[in-house]
Amino acid sequence: MRACVIRATGSLDHLQLADVPDPAAVLGARDVRVAIRAAALNHLDLFVARGLPHAYTFPHILGADGAGVVDAVGAEVGSVRPGDRVMLNPGISDYACDYCRAGEHSLCVNYRMLGEHLPGTLCESVIVPEQNVAIIPTVTPSLSWAEAAAFSLVTLTAWRMVVTRAQTQSGETVLIWGIGGGVSLTALRIAKLRGARVIATSSSDAKLEAARRLGADVTLNHRTHDVAREVRTLTNKRGADVVVENVGGATWEQSVRSLARGGRLVTCGATAGPQVAIDLRRLFWHSWSILGSTMGNAAEYREIVRLLGSGELRPIVDRVFPLQEARAAFERLDKGEQLGKIAVEVSE
Ligand SMILES: [Zn+2]
Repeated sequence: MRACVIRATGSLDHLQLADVPDPAAVLGARDVRVAIRAAALNHLDLFVARGLPHAYTFPHILGADGAGVVDAVGAEVGSVRPGDRVMLNPGISDYACDYCRAGEHSLCVNYRMLGEHLPGTLCESVIVPEQNVAIIPTVTPSLSWAEAAAFSLVTLTAWRMVVTRAQTQSGETVLIWGIGGGVSLTALRIAKLRGARVIATSSSDAKLEAARRLGADVTLNHRTHDVAREVRTLTNKRGADVVVENVGGATWEQSVRSLARGGRLVTCGATAGPQVAIDLRRLFWHSWSILGSTMGNAAEYREIVRLLGSGELRPIVDRVFPLQEARAAFERLDKGEQLGKIAVEVSE
């Protein structure tokens, strides 16, 4: 089958289209094979291509998000049938450890991501456990393959951050950094669903204008504004109740300075650097919570799929590239030019 692979890590120069063996012909009893129609890119894919500190099996197929048609199921699969149109939840748990049995699948001790620890979705066929597929809901207008592929990773991540971890309440103020990115844009939609007031930042005025159209109450260009000071002014000196971070490095200090008393800072990424500082005296005095978050559990995934079906959450696709132009898709993501998700059409 055709696939977008790397045979070495280090740069996007290693990306190539290749013919690789089809996945195993014999399925596990609870496994589902999906003929991929579209995949979607995440920052994770850039990190994988540049090199993460774990063993790779080359050629390694990139891509975590995907959607397609079920074309085979294992003997014990009961929730989907061949011909069903499905989206993939790219976080694969063992569904057996203590965390899994407690319903916390993203804390699984054997948690693995498609396209990172496992072969990815930028190819024609993927095998995943039954628990990791969801039937694409029927909505009007119907979801394109690219939209379905773009849904899972960022929506699950943003949902757990804003709702489960930060417990965002109606009337609270939420500061969201870098609104062009998929997680940030989805966090904006979810925070608005929760009835919060959203302050969104970007270095691009065009993206800020789009953020206002998508519901942001206030937008700040973080290149030209002192974000923490503006947040204080906008909240009558109170500060933001919730700060949604995935940048780290440069934005961290501003994030902390923006927090209200009792505020929650939730982070799922460190695209601008993993090492940050915190003044513990201010942390305990102001009763701040610093919350880490990664992906989400099966109950959270069911909930976001339900909200997709009710029309309350819909993925925002920036642009769709054909598989043979996957390199251009990665470069667009790398330059941060996108507003929403970049998708790759794998087959018609
Ligand atoms: Zn587990």
